[in-house]
Amino acid sequence: MNEFALIQQYFKHTALAASNDPASSVVLGIGDDAALIQPPAGQQLVITSDTLVAGRHFPVDTVAHAIGWKAAAVNLSDIAAMGARPFAVLMAISLPEVDQDWLAQFSHGFFACCAPEQVQLIGGDTTQSSVLSMTVTALGWVEPGKAIRRDGAKPGDLIVVSNTLGDAAYALQHPGSELQERLDYPQPRNLLGMALNGYAHSMLDISDGLAQDLGHILTASRVGAALHLEQLPLSATLQQLPREQAWQLALTGGDDYELCFTIAPERFKQFCQHYAGQFQLQVIGQIIASPGLTLWYQQQPYTMNLQGYQHFD
Ligand code: ADP
Ligand code: MG
Repeated sequence: MNEFALIQQYFKHTALAASNDPASSVVLGIGDDAALIQPPAGQQLVITSDTLVAGRHFPVDTVAHAIGWKAAAVNLSDIAAMGARPFAVLMAISLPEVDQDWLAQFSHGFFACCAPEQVQLIGGDTTQSSVLSMTVTALGWVEPGKAIRRDGAKPGDLIVVSNTLGDAAYALQHPGSELQERLDYPQPRNLLGMALNGYAHSMLDISDGLAQDLGHILTASRVGAALHLEQLPLSATLQQLPREQAWQLALTGGDDYELCFTIAPERFKQFCQHYAGQFQLQVIGQIIASPGLTLWYQQQPYTMNLQGYQHFD
């Protein structure tokens, strides 16, 4: 199978073809030298790229469907974390071999993740290499000045996270556990990200562990944070663990792709009233003026050695 046939069969997803939707900003998708985008009037382009390398970002024996899903999910999650609306992705993929079963599963997983927000694959590149890897670029739109950045946190803000933390890290340590789905199928929180537009002061998605990622907000915003350990949202599985072990996973475990944002208490109340019951959110602490991250347990300062994930270890 040559490269063109491969692209045609697995990546040119006609169900989401640009021409079907006159409102789409995608004028021309896969098939020409480059794609064409007509920006909606007065919108800012949000753009991000993430690479996944086999053995580094997912275990080599991960099923192809999950790899495809994850390649899309980690990028859509970054668009969510900006408070933006995703509309298109590009994918550069390096394949050790052309395995048609693998490609079919991979592309199904990829498009399944793109479908809920009607995100289109508009281009990319396909090459051969000894190691399987893929770089996905995601594009989104946001109103000028409305993107939710890392540098907007203010003292007095609540720190809020979505869903539960530490599940993906637990699954990595316990292959085949009931939390395997949380590792293989991270859910990009696009609806939440867009809803928080106009409410949250700062936001990011948690990919390297809450403590390290929240640290990026604190540094960029020149503030500190007080976190209350008993408020960390834990799945039923993590609640069964010794509490320090569960906190360690929730604070330092990577691959959660949940959103962490800061928001004024009054605005959070209004948000919860407006979106009653639509999102699972948990307040875990407050932004404070003095720098650094402090942990609290039952109103007492608590000391814990956090094992942060480092990329170049
Ligand atoms: P060129 O040689 O001009 O770069 P290619 O042969 O690489 O063109 O690609 C042909 C078309 O297929 C282009 O529109 C390109 O964007 C698209 N394409 C190639 N690989 C992929 C892929 N993995 N996913 C999506 N589109 C792809
Ligand atoms: Mg090319």
